[in-house]
Amino acid sequence: MIGVIYKIKCNITNEIYIGSTTNFIKRKQHHKELKYSSKNIIKRNNYNFYILDKREFTNNLSLLLLENLYIVICKKYCKCVNTKIAHRTKNIDNYIRIEYRKNNKNKIKLKDKKWYENNKEKIINIRRERNNKKVYCKICNKKMNYTSLSRHNKNIHSNQ
Ligand SMILES: [Zn+2]
Repeated sequence: MIGVIYKIKCNITNEIYIGSTTNFIKRKQHHKELKYSSKNIIKRNNYNFYILDKREFTNNLSLLLLENLYIVICKKYCKCVNTKIAHRTKNIDNYIRIEYRKNNKNKIKLKDKKWYENNKEKIINIRRERNNKKVYCKICNKKMNYTSLSRHNKNIHSNQ
């Protein structure tokens, strides 16, 4: 995929917004919807777009990582208005997790199964304990098993 790192520079305040996209033309339009932290720059209506980097990326993660790098440097040396490094980092975490899950489906399944086997007794005990736990209905104060509570609520109190 071809990814683009771009900046928007306000010609009045010199504020800079850094972004990345795989569709620069569409993204330019998106900025006009004032959804990003670039919105004040856009509102002042005296700005230019600049492409900082345009190249082949093997995946979305490497594009995000490079964008992050630009943001960090921009924050150090310019009036950078980006607020979402943390958010982006969360995206990266998610990306890594999703990719890992996708590439290691069998390994994870095996691990889960193994974990279940090793903890079977414990899990069954916890379940049993929970199921036998007595609770009180918050509405009519009737005492019942934890497992009966949702049925009780549905049957007795759903019309109240
Ligand atoms: Zn009740």
